[in-house]
Amino acid sequence: MLWLISLSDDVVMISYSQYLNSIFPGVKVQKISVNAGFSCPNRDGTIGSGGCLYCRNDSFSPAYCMDMEPVATQIERGKEFFSRKYPEMKYLAYFQSYTNTYGRDSSRLRALYEEALGCEGVVGLVIGTRPDTLPDDVLDMLSDINRSSPVFLEIGAESSFDDTLRLINRHHTWADVVSAVTRASSRGLRCGLHLIAGLPGEDDEMVLANVRNACALPIDTLKLHQLQIIEATPLCKLWREGRIEVTPYRLEEYLSLCARITQIVPEDIVIERFLSQSPPEMVVAPKWGLKNYQFMNLLNGIIRKNKRSFL
Ligand code: SF4
Repeated sequence: MLWLISLSDDVVMISYSQYLNSIFPGVKVQKISVNAGFSCPNRDGTIGSGGCLYCRNDSFSPAYCMDMEPVATQIERGKEFFSRKYPEMKYLAYFQSYTNTYGRDSSRLRALYEEALGCEGVVGLVIGTRPDTLPDDVLDMLSDINRSSPVFLEIGAESSFDDTLRLINRHHTWADVVSAVTRASSRGLRCGLHLIAGLPGEDDEMVLANVRNACALPIDTLKLHQLQIIEATPLCKLWREGRIEVTPYRLEEYLSLCARITQIVPEDIVIERFLSQSPPEMVVAPKWGLKNYQFMNLLNGIIRKNKRSFL
């Protein structure tokens, strides 16, 4: 599959929405976030407690899925949100909050995913999870669903350096990421990795190494975020007390880093996004106040000089 289109001497990188369009031709597809009541093994004491230093789940879950309603009800509510503008829209049920393959056996997980797929207009699943929470029987079940409805895994890697993973209290290793992606991809599942730029102890060169290491794996997509210091997280407390060294990116520094990233990501890997947009009232730093499209306009301005731009 060709993700780059040559236009004279310009190279245009395919956006995530065009990637989806290649899988669902002729249809506009939108993710709907679902909170299915999962927990996280890094919070409930199974492998750790307190969670990752930066984590506050309500900072990345939309309001329409904050109430613990049945999955189908949440999807219907999400559809109302989008379908006024685009009545023909199709949907991916996005199991986003916490660790969405954890704490239930594969048959109970399957029932939950199938509840989502049973909703009118839902054409696939996006499942966010940790790399150490994807046992083979769950991957086999997802692979079976994937035969009829596309399944996209979104695996939180965050860094490829085990020292960093320890420091941010992830309680998994890079080897766990390699294992999860290899086993999922060998079953035909589409894999996306999530990385965070600006983690404590990591400079730009380490972020670029993380991107290279991620892209050496059989992944389809990459999602990168700037580290945000969110109110009421362990990271925020440690940072305010001067007990952890974190220098939030200035916008121009992060844009320049992202431009470098576009030069090293191979043509067959789609960059889903570069920006995290938590509710402004929760963000302590960095406070850029930018929407994703505004960030992308700025980034495109820079990378066009490198003969690359996002469609
Ligand atoms: S970021 Fe994910 S793995 Fe870490 S504590 Fe939050 S839900 Fe758990």
